Amino acid sequence: MKKILIVGAGFSGAVLARELAESGGYSCTVIDSRDHVAGNCHTERDVKTGVMEHKYGPHIFHTSREDVWEYIQKFGKFEPFTNRVKASVKRGVFSLPINLHTINQFFGKNMSPSEAKEFMKTVGDPSIEEPQNFEEQALKMLGKDLYESFFKGYTIKQWGCDPKELPASILKRLPVRFDYNDNYYNSKYQGIPRDGYTSAVSSMLDHDNISVKTSTNWEASMAKDFDHVVYTGPLDEFFDCSEGKLGYRTVFWSKEYHTGDFQGNAVINYPEVDCKHTRIHEHKHFAPWEEHDETIVFTEYSKETESGDIPYYPKRLEADKSILDAYMAKANALEGVSFLGRLATYRYMDMHQIIGEALDYSKQFIDCENKGSKPPAFPTF
Ligand code: UDP
Repeated sequence: MKKILIVGAGFSGAVLARELAESGGYSCTVIDSRDHVAGNCHTERDVKTGVMEHKYGPHIFHTSREDVWEYIQKFGKFEPFTNRVKASVKRGVFSLPINLHTINQFFGKNMSPSEAKEFMKTVGDPSIEEPQNFEEQALKMLGKDLYESFFKGYTIKQWGCDPKELPASILKRLPVRFDYNDNYYNSKYQGIPRDGYTSAVSSMLDHDNISVKTSTNWEASMAKDFDHVVYTGPLDEFFDCSEGKLGYRTVFWSKEYHTGDFQGNAVINYPEVDCKHTRIHEHKHFAPWEEHDETIVFTEYSKETESGDIPYYPKRLEADKSILDAYMAKANALEGVSFLGRLATYRYMDMHQIIGEALDYSKQFIDCENKGSKPPAFPTF
């Protein structure tokens, strides 16, 4: 069996380890610097309340890929969950993503879907043909008033830069709907694992051909004991930041305990710029199948990543792109190392995309090895 070292026990590392292990041709060692598996999806019950806490921010699993949905369910029971987000602004509480309820409430109207569609054409900026950035995308699709109420301030707080500097793709994550569907996602499947994500990842890693070592830092000298290394940590750190640091936003939370129901919903966003936080999460509402008298509430803030902070959101501003190109060129020139996942490929990805890509990459990896060719340094994207 070939010996593979996988650096990082988040979803990308765990899926790859499982797939290689199951193929029978590989023995995988998975290391993680943290004292738990599951990366930023890590969940743990709060000791005081028993509420399942999403330690690094709430994760709602959603996908339209049949194979990904089937795959993840092999490792834990998923309960149905629909994310319905509200936005709280001075004028009141509105429904997100922008849907017919939001439009009617915001403009004080009583429009049908087709009337709202026509109306939105009059508020959007028709002079923008191909939006070049986040702001142009918003102005074209939503017009100035909706943009300024729900997106401008939130985006400045979340990303710490002018929305004109951000790609339009960030806004395209959110649908705009002309019906009363207030599901935050368009995906076909959506759910949350009953026993938490850490349990699902642990069962993924529970295989005779996988050994897991937590609280273990990656060191370059480890590579000599393995046939191949798959690195899922931050790309710049693999190269000791020799070409410069890639920009990330980090998020942090203040945690409070309350009795009863604090806000009546799992997520409420605070898009206005004069309020410092971006959103408030009440974790027990992510598990509506459970009952808890007490509640834990996380108020989320965003800031630039400094030394020691956890990198969450890859910024991919212009300055980052040339640094990224330099690291990718270095990575492509290496032998026996591949890069997988959100941090190692420096892309804003959700869990389902990570799992889908790790499944695809594992097939590609095994195929290349069987043919005696070099597996690609990065998944093809
Ligand atoms: N966004 C916003 N206002 C909101 C929610 C989202 O302006 O109330 C913008 C913001 O720039 C954010 C992006 O839309 O980064 C994508 O939102 P999503 O909810 O997908 O972000 P995530 O849950 O990954 O933080």
